Amino acid sequence: MSSNLKKVVIIGGGFAGLRALYRLSDYDYHFEVTIVDKRDTSLEKPALPEVAFDGKSLEHVHIDIAPQARKHTAAFVVGEVELIDTDAQEVVLKSGDKLPYDYLIIASGAIKDYDAIKGYREFGYSVCDDTEAKRLNERLQSFEGGNVVTGAAKSEFGTMVEAPNLKAPCEGPIGEIMFMMDYRLRKEGKREKSTINVFSPAEIFFEDVGDGAREPVGKLMQEHGIELTTAKELVEITKEKVIFSDGSSMDCDLAIIIPPYKAPQFIAKSNLGDDKGWVPVDKTMKHIGFDNIFAAGDVSALAQPKLGHIAINQADVAVSSILKTEGIEHEEVKFNPEVFCIMNMGGFSAILIYSNALYNGEYDFAWHSPIAKMMKTGFDDEYHYTHGHMPPDVAVEALESLLHKFGKRG
Ligand SMILES: Cc1cc2nc3c(=O)[nH]c(=O)nc-3n(C[C@H](O)[C@H](O)[C@H](O)COP(=O)(O)OP(=O)(O)OC[C@H]3O[C@@H](n4cnc5c(N)ncnc54)[C@H](O)[C@@H]3O)c2cc1C
Repeated sequence: MSSNLKKVVIIGGGFAGLRALYRLSDYDYHFEVTIVDKRDTSLEKPALPEVAFDGKSLEHVHIDIAPQARKHTAAFVVGEVELIDTDAQEVVLKSGDKLPYDYLIIASGAIKDYDAIKGYREFGYSVCDDTEAKRLNERLQSFEGGNVVTGAAKSEFGTMVEAPNLKAPCEGPIGEIMFMMDYRLRKEGKREKSTINVFSPAEIFFEDVGDGAREPVGKLMQEHGIELTTAKELVEITKEKVIFSDGSSMDCDLAIIIPPYKAPQFIAKSNLGDDKGWVPVDKTMKHIGFDNIFAAGDVSALAQPKLGHIAINQADVAVSSILKTEGIEHEEVKFNPEVFCIMNMGGFSAILIYSNALYNGEYDFAWHSPIAKMMKTGFDDEYHYTHGHMPPDVAVEALESLLHKFGKRG
């Protein structure tokens, strides 16, 4: 019987991959799903700043993929994808194993290229993965205060599909780092002898939102004594400085950075990438050159900014497109890029940002409140304890209609 089922392979068990797995499991009478990841756990990246600054345990940011795959009638393979053979319709793993597919969903995220920044491994810190977040947490135990510098390095994006060309595809974590650092230093009585300097490679910090969201953040930065410098492209970190491409530098005792994002190599190797290696998809998440290959999340050229919220929407669109191709009745999902994130500021404080100004939409709004912090904690816990499920659609719709009421651009 299983030979009649259409084979779907999902590469990556992060935000987009798990979402696609869960959505497809409603149609297990029609599809045989295999999910493959080089890790055996899905990493909850939005909770990594808490690992670094609050000592949150790694256990609470990992979701075991295998039991979730089993529960959702899918197979899970631990392995690194080396190549996609589009002629044979097979995903080839480093081990040599091959996974045949009728449909492929590429949800392999972005590589954080720490080594592109000279001196990073010796002097730099980050929150972008579990190893780096833990390493920063250890460094903070002995940090006595001083010059803290944080910012994102410049990333490169292609031109094959129309998407905003952001210099930093995800500056939200920088917002969390600067405020959580400020909170921690104040709590430890070290803020007086410290400075916090933020740099951005773009002309505008938070270029993915409009003034309605950006201005309240800027005001809070001023209130917290956080300095901002824009149009600075990081090239090197030394023991005492961060150095930019224009030759300027900042004194620095602790550099916490977001490295450049780059696309996983197997995409280019399989001739599936755009001019910078990201997967070019149309608004149905279908590869512009292949009818049975889809991409969702950070790896797709359309994901700008690169956010979990957009990854989830893209996974829904990819699954919806496959269902439509198979003639399966369902409620069609459209691509709806928007920024929706909650920045932890430490203590009981957080800022909720909701904006589609980048896409000339109607909403652009930031809300600083302890309730935003409760929502952040609530979301992280729910995501973890439900093993990567988003809150129910009805709850998300109710929240969005509330945000639509308050968040209209002036
Ligand atoms: C510190 C931090 C905080 C963030 N906070 C927020 C937030 O508050 N809100 C928000 O919306 N977004 C946030 N983001 C962004 C969000 O985490 C990403 O947009 C999201 O994780 C993208 O999901 P994804 O499924 O595309 O990729 P990922 O979650 O990165 O998952 C990709 C998966 O693919 C696997 N993989 C990669 N290459 C291969 C290969 N060759 N073979 C096999 N498997 C492979 C990886 O192991 C990984 O499990 C944050 C990001 C960071 C770094």
